[in-house]
Amino acid sequence: MGHVTTSVMWFRRDLRLGDNPAVLDAQAAGPDGVVPLFVLDARLWTPAATARTAYLSRLLTDFSDRVGGLHVGHGDPAVEVLNVARSVGADTVHVAADHGPYGSRRDRRVEAALAEHDIALVRTGSPHAVAPGRVTKSDGSGYRVFTPFFRAWQEHGWRGPAPVATDVPWTRPDGRAHDIPDAAVPDGLTLPPVGEAAALDRWRTFLDEDVADYDDIRNLPGVDRTSRMSVHLKWGTIHPRTMLADLAPLRSGGAAAYARELGFREFYADVLAQRPDSAFDYYNRAFARMEYDEPGEALEAWKAGRTGFPIVDAGMRQLRGEGWMHNRVRMIVASFLVKDLHIEWQHGARHFLSLLVDADLASNQHGWQWVAGCGTDAAPYFRVFNPVSQGRKFDPDGTYIRRWVPELADVEAPHVHEPWQLDELPAGYVAPIVDHAEERREALRRYEAIR
Ligand code: FAD
Repeated sequence: MGHVTTSVMWFRRDLRLGDNPAVLDAQAAGPDGVVPLFVLDARLWTPAATARTAYLSRLLTDFSDRVGGLHVGHGDPAVEVLNVARSVGADTVHVAADHGPYGSRRDRRVEAALAEHDIALVRTGSPHAVAPGRVTKSDGSGYRVFTPFFRAWQEHGWRGPAPVATDVPWTRPDGRAHDIPDAAVPDGLTLPPVGEAAALDRWRTFLDEDVADYDDIRNLPGVDRTSRMSVHLKWGTIHPRTMLADLAPLRSGGAAAYARELGFREFYADVLAQRPDSAFDYYNRAFARMEYDEPGEALEAWKAGRTGFPIVDAGMRQLRGEGWMHNRVRMIVASFLVKDLHIEWQHGARHFLSLLVDADLASNQHGWQWVAGCGTDAAPYFRVFNPVSQGRKFDPDGTYIRRWVPELADVEAPHVHEPWQLDELPAGYVAPIVDHAEERREALRRYEAIR
């Protein structure tokens, strides 16, 4: 029997076969067999039922069917990946590069463990159209402001989509498929559809029906016609390159606005790679000196969607109900936590990461820091969102509020934005936990002290 050449394809945030150049490389390196591997490490897998584990277990089950059985390892990737590669005699392990703070450290560890056995970790592509770190100013440093980054990113450009991988000789080290742990869905949560087919389906529907109007309706949570592609981008069931290629021939303002949002996703990934500390520390370090309140009952009321401010409560309840929140409302609830409750952004960001099915460290932490005034080209701190006027402006008839706050189901606009103006509060609903005008002044006072 001649020499058998196999390789390992270690999937992470790239659970698709279309437009996946790492899979094509794994196939070229493994004409006799490619092991489709996924490793559940402690970062990804907790015994508790979370939106992430619930979504991931369904997604892995779906993907496993596509590759004739996914090999699932549990534990330290440096051990698991090495064991699998050695057991099939692979010379190469293929991945899409991970530029996140945890992922890049993990990959360097795995790379070193493999190298001791003369096995190479081969990085092909990344979850981004342009890999973080590639778009730089003329002096080689990274951008700190979105608009010039976006211009340079567009000028840099990206490859066209790669062909769908077909006839990959998928194989398993022990000849059998592995059980995917079945994670329970947290109470009250409805998960979005999973998998590559669902991602492409959703994307084509959005292109046909909504992208042309995206610019006009993207801020209206009651209309609810944004793409909902974030969860697919998070797990790589679609690559942004595929999306950008579909957007390129479209001439609508909506298509241009959408491409710009994909640019924000790339910008934040780039900024996080430049400043890994900004995942949990202040991007603008001056803000670490500001006076904050200890999180207590106010944080709990915010998490539960019981602040008495309807648009805030609706958003926090959508987060629990769908593992997703509309972007405009993410900004409103984040501003409320930081500027009305004076709680550090990290508490809110952690809550979001634990409940969002699209939880993405770069977009989430930098979305939070932007709202909190301490991020890259952040909203000026003194521009404090007023939750009532935000509600009136972006959910004028209160459709979104009534959808998520049943206590207000019978309250029409304008009172739905200020139920405390009614003769009596609707049954079950709470009075505002703070006076916005007062807390706004307090936020500005604290800001003055660090300016
Ligand atoms: P669409 O409006 O259809 O946008 C299309 C795509 O563009 C999104 O899927 C996303 O990939 C990208 N995008 C849009 N807006 C942004 C943005 N502001 N920053 C970065 N990328 C963007 N997005 C996440 O993917 N994961 C997160 O954990 C996350 N946390 C956030 C936290 C806060 C406080 C804020 C203000 C924003 C956060 N965002 C996050 C960005 C944005 O809210 C979501 O990407 C968007 O709501 C997802 O829904 P969609 O796919 O329908 O968006």
